[in-house]
Amino acid sequence: IYNFSAGPATMPDPVIAQIKADMPSYKNSGMSVMEISHRSALFDDIINTAEQDMRDLLKIPDNYKVLFFQGGGTLQFTTAPMNLATKYHKIGLLDSGHWADRAGDEAKRVGVKVDVLNSTKDIKYTKLPIIKNLTQDTYDYVHVCLNNTIEGTAYSTLPDTGATTLVGDMSSNFMGQQYNIEDFGAIMAGAQKNLGIAGLTLVIVRDDLIGKVQNLPSMLDYDLFAKKNSMFNTPPVFAIYAAGLVLKWLKEQGGVAEMERRNRAKSDLLYNFLDESKLFTAPVEKADRSLVNIPFVTGNPDLDAKLIAEATEAGLLNIKGHRSVGGMRASLYNAMPYEGAQALVDFLDKFEKNNRG
Ligand code: PLP
Repeated sequence: IYNFSAGPATMPDPVIAQIKADMPSYKNSGMSVMEISHRSALFDDIINTAEQDMRDLLKIPDNYKVLFFQGGGTLQFTTAPMNLATKYHKIGLLDSGHWADRAGDEAKRVGVKVDVLNSTKDIKYTKLPIIKNLTQDTYDYVHVCLNNTIEGTAYSTLPDTGATTLVGDMSSNFMGQQYNIEDFGAIMAGAQKNLGIAGLTLVIVRDDLIGKVQNLPSMLDYDLFAKKNSMFNTPPVFAIYAAGLVLKWLKEQGGVAEMERRNRAKSDLLYNFLDESKLFTAPVEKADRSLVNIPFVTGNPDLDAKLIAEATEAGLLNIKGHRSVGGMRASLYNAMPYEGAQALVDFLDKFEKNNRG
């Protein structure tokens, strides 16, 4: 079975095996991780080790806080403007797709003005919008979705925000593609694609940007979470434990650079096939293609449905495209082995031969 879901997504086999092994009695405590207190030494070790491993893997400088939140990427569309849009109460946004649009929508709901700096909505987001000229510092930050999970585009070169702080939604390529943390004021990422299970969201934020607003709701306050080591209330213990195992696995595999190399190899294999194909089209402009979310279509919804059914039958799961794009989408996150991408290409090749008409 290969699971091409966009998230929650496939996990590394050794991580699942470790979770199973730890289930009856975590470190001989007689309790599973689900049962241990977040105020225990066992959990202190889990969260502190996870943070240190993440710092090592991403080379996070000391003046950045690592925060473990709940509420998904979506809650961060609210918390980021509440914590960071403190001077101008205005942010810039690159409208690169559904998740960027959602971020703008949530910012507006908390009274922050949102200027769309550029959009590619008119060409169905098949290309990335860029910043043409942002010389004036009139925004608290510019929000950019680095990997557009639904549309299948990714910024490999960061948009030029000049002196304005960049805030990045890395939910779907966190630890799967290399970025320089210092280029960002803050980064947000849900765990359920490359870092384990849903229920945990990572925020990495430069410390001089936080603590500027008094009396934020406690659960939305970056500064409070930083001061309380992400344990203001009960954190998602199991999800942090699972993320810790994924981080260990990532270190063993060679880190983020190696993940990017593998993701590139897998996606090249699929894109090369699609570009040669007479049946399938990958609609995204080549230079802007995501390394991990790959939409493709036949142009015939009935044929797409047949393909998805046959793929499922063959053990290639969850390749149905997002309802807003249609067709198919293969997600090739860190835990997808090269053999999975190869199995998909072999299947598509056979399907094309049988259905070219
Ligand atoms: N941002 C991106 C890029 C996503 O892909 C998603 C979900 O798929 C989200 C934000 C929202 O994440 P969540 O469902 O964890 O709120």
